[in-house]
Amino acid sequence: MATSRTPVEVPTKRRIAVLTSGGDAPGMNGAVRAVVRMTIHRGCEAYVVHEGYDGLVCGGNMIHQMHWEDVRGWLSRGGTLIGSARCSSFRERAGRLKAARNMVLHGIDALVVCGGDGTLTGADIFRSEWPGLLRELVSTGDLTEIQIRPHATLNIVGLVGSIDNDMAGTDTTIGCYSSLNRICEAVDAVFDTASSHQRGFVVEVMGRNCGWLALMAAISTGADWLFIPEMPPRDGWEDNMCSIINRNRDRGKRRTIVIVAEGAQDRNLNKISSTAVKDVLSTRLHLDTRVTVLGHTQRGGAACAHDRWLSTLQGVEAVNAILEITPECPSPVISIRENKIARASMMEAVRQTQKATELIKAKKFEEAMSMRDPEFREYHLAYLNTTTTDHPKMALPESERLRVAIIHVGAPAGGMNPATRVAVAYCMTRGHTPIAIHNGFPGLCRHHADKPVGSVREVEWLEAENWVNEGGSEIGTNRSLPSEDMPTTAKVFDLYKFEALFIVGGFEAFTAASQLRKAREQYSAFKIPIVVLPATISNNVPGTEYSLGSDTCLNALVTFCDVIRQSASSSRRRVFVVETQGGQSGYIATMAGLSVGATAVYIPEEGIDIKMLARDIEFLRYNFASDRGANRAGKIILRNECASNTYTTQVIADIIKEEAKGRFESRAAVPGHFQQGGKPSPVDRVRALRMAIKCMQHVEGYAGKTPDEIADDDYSAAVIGVNGSQVLFSPLGGPNGLETTDTDWSRRRPKKEFWLRFQGLVDILSGRPKSDGGVQDGECWGCYEHT
Ligand code: ADP
Repeated sequence: MATSRTPVEVPTKRRIAVLTSGGDAPGMNGAVRAVVRMTIHRGCEAYVVHEGYDGLVCGGNMIHQMHWEDVRGWLSRGGTLIGSARCSSFRERAGRLKAARNMVLHGIDALVVCGGDGTLTGADIFRSEWPGLLRELVSTGDLTEIQIRPHATLNIVGLVGSIDNDMAGTDTTIGCYSSLNRICEAVDAVFDTASSHQRGFVVEVMGRNCGWLALMAAISTGADWLFIPEMPPRDGWEDNMCSIINRNRDRGKRRTIVIVAEGAQDRNLNKISSTAVKDVLSTRLHLDTRVTVLGHTQRGGAACAHDRWLSTLQGVEAVNAILEITPECPSPVISIRENKIARASMMEAVRQTQKATELIKAKKFEEAMSMRDPEFREYHLAYLNTTTTDHPKMALPESERLRVAIIHVGAPAGGMNPATRVAVAYCMTRGHTPIAIHNGFPGLCRHHADKPVGSVREVEWLEAENWVNEGGSEIGTNRSLPSEDMPTTAKVFDLYKFEALFIVGGFEAFTAASQLRKAREQYSAFKIPIVVLPATISNNVPGTEYSLGSDTCLNALVTFCDVIRQSASSSRRRVFVVETQGGQSGYIATMAGLSVGATAVYIPEEGIDIKMLARDIEFLRYNFASDRGANRAGKIILRNECASNTYTTQVIADIIKEEAKGRFESRAAVPGHFQQGGKPSPVDRVRALRMAIKCMQHVEGYAGKTPDEIADDDYSAAVIGVNGSQVLFSPLGGPNGLETTDTDWSRRRPKKEFWLRFQGLVDILSGRPKSDGGVQDGECWGCYEHT
């Protein structure tokens, strides 16, 4: 080691470093970008450490300062641009001693680490040893008292970057949904060939100790059978698997998919390999079966929208946390529960994660499952209940069985079909009768006793089974409301003896449910449980922070923006004004803004005015000037379709072009219906499963009640929704009903939009000047004052 005479800069500002370690995961770059920019925004200096803990141990220029511009474009890059490595020397105290010295020499005592449980464990040990390490460095003469004095404590915050989603205490980890996207793309592709040739496919996915990827892949693709490490199949699984696959094929299913996690094993911990599964299918069922091992494709590629906004929000939270924690605070890990970014105890999360692995090794599978998040268990059960639809134990007594009508209302959105498939499968499992209403309320009204046209009919298992990965609405959706013909609507309800109604759709679905609820006084046919599952790309349904289809739409927008941005690389100085859908809600525009790193986002909630445009043009001018064409990609401004009647997308693009005076150019781009996004994203598919089952369970609770008892219960007309960290039903009517408390009927959106606070974050992370900042030539914008 060098002597204590090694020069040390005394930092004037707090320095925060970030590193990525362990296996890489898509989204890690988004986290680093957010940490760097938020650190600068909070008045500190940002550092990165290259190659994980290796960089800390080696020091020198493996640790260096980052400026605002250095992370431009990182959101769309796969892998980790600062490198990740497994570092054996950091496992030893001697390695950590060097790391501590290098940190002090760089004036850093705050570290954000992004990785798996190993990374977090290493960080925690490092933090606990820190005072001792510094004392030792002083005693050996490597550092002086003066050098260590400003760095008495080390602050650590963890971010979980892992494709396996194996960390306890958080619903998802950075990278897991991108990986699931890759898997689903591959299995969707296999689907077609499996179906054409009536083949079987055994698909092996990553997950040595945790079956999250395998379970979610099975849910998202309607796999016939699943092997995960924490729930090994019972002895004799070969017979069970073959009988289920046989039955499904007898019912007409032409493709057979089995998902095997890398760590799949039987109850005696003997590995179940994908080849062994294939052999069983080939020999016992004489099924032409192929094995597909997806391997490292699961790690690669750009992050999906979910991982981009998640890594961004968590990176921001990590910086806030690191500036707030005190020496007594245990180190936090940044988590997400449903829709809420939160902090949890890092070591408690690690302990639980490691405990689950130990329990699996000890063959205590039930206990291992209980160490996983409750959501994991729920998903597993939901998968089973919608795959084996004729398990005698699951069927309800005749008296509790319902005739459940299913209808789609509003514009198509990703996830509508998977949700319907799940509802149908669950109904069959429980003995209910699922009845599809084709083409919305007009379809229903066309179908009356005298002239049935087939738009109200029971759903066959096989028909629904194929909807698992289909986009749009297979039963047909329509924007018309029941108020257009309430008497006929009631008549058909009576005719078909509907005992529950499941409405999948957006704001019109919500409105339709509200109209039916209010019409109960006149028509007793509507005195049945009515539940709305929000599905709309606009995500503007009161009672929920998340609607099916919005994630699919975000992925489409992110892809669109990545591509057009790339297209600007030859001209180098181009701004795209991209028009997003979303009606009167700026949700999609804002979340896409977070996910693509937009320069600005224009939303109806805020509107657009001339000062704003002038400020943004000035900001663009500075941006292009500072970057001197170094960054080839174009810049993105997102404009929601209803943000202004005057400043249309084309008008804004034209104004920018005019005002840029040849220094840069601009183009309007309208992705239009591309935003519906083709096949539903895995987030929408798995959430469709969970939400649809909860909806069915909710309506089941009304079996045996009289119409008046049902009508008297406010929750009998309800919306399922994500609210912060919970999934809840909210009543439409009654004193706390959404109709009065949370609905802005004229603007067709909730009164309280939880995501509005992210609007400011988009600005912070792009360095966009504040609205009250005025526009003056030569002014230092947020990002430049630090570079
Ligand atoms: P992951 O973070 O994905 O779980 P690893 O388990 O390989 O990946 O851990 C990443 C790095 O974290 C290791 O290479 C090592 O440098 C450090 N690390 C892991 N466990 C420890 C430990 N018990 N003590 C110190 N450092 C550790």
